[in-house]
Amino acid sequence: MKNNKKMRLVIKIGTQVISGKNGLNKKRIRQIIIEVAEFFKLGYEVILVSSGAIATGLPFIHFKSKFHKKIAAAVGQPLLMHAYTNEAKKHKIIIGQVLILSDDFTNRKNFKNLILNINDMLSHKVLPIINENDVMKRQDLRINDNDTLGAMVAVGVSADKLIILTNKDGLYTKNPDHDKEAVLIKEVSKINSETMALCATGKSALGVGGMLAKIKAAKYATQKGVETFIGNGKKKGIIIGALNENFSGTRFLAKNNNK
Ligand code: GLU
Repeated sequence: MKNNKKMRLVIKIGTQVISGKNGLNKKRIRQIIIEVAEFFKLGYEVILVSSGAIATGLPFIHFKSKFHKKIAAAVGQPLLMHAYTNEAKKHKIIIGQVLILSDDFTNRKNFKNLILNINDMLSHKVLPIINENDVMKRQDLRINDNDTLGAMVAVGVSADKLIILTNKDGLYTKNPDHDKEAVLIKEVSKINSETMALCATGKSALGVGGMLAKIKAAKYATQKGVETFIGNGKKKGIIIGALNENFSGTRFLAKNNNK
């Protein structure tokens, strides 16, 4: 469904990358948008899949309930978008919010409209920033994590690359939090059960993915021909590294990549 030959990137930004204890980390958003603006100058098409709505809203929520994170997402999502808008404005980039439900991928008509509208945004140089529409679901039918969402979007829009930014440097041979001998794996040509076994099961407090979700997302995307990268979103220049063979995280080669 891709309508031209421009390089198309989907960049997934994890909660841990753009938020801290007190909510949103605006400096980090600034840095990400600076890198995105470089890609705009080069004529690339960029789609952001950004988490962070819950973390942004939580400091404003002074009660606990089974679903208080949904309300935090409702409060945080506009603030998150506001932060992106402010930074993007400095580079004359217009952003557009896209909130997605899992049904949008299974309902053919919704999916077609979603892709057509994203393509239209891209052709008019509007930067789509996608998140799951957290408020619309309780526990049923959730996409569950934005790693999966990022991979579904990347495959749906026939992206050339999916870059998953997190607070870890990539996939390690052992759990780097507990084992000094852990070594970063620079390249994975095939994701199999041994690759999956390397993932620590731990999740961050506010994100819902964890490394396993990222590897599953990478598996789905690479099997569908989208080269995938997992790297540390706190490092400057991380995104550009994915494009010049100088990536400081883990690169997952795409199957039958004939792009
Ligand atoms: N949609 C959630 C948010 O914006 C994040 C989901 C995830 O961490 O993958 O906070």
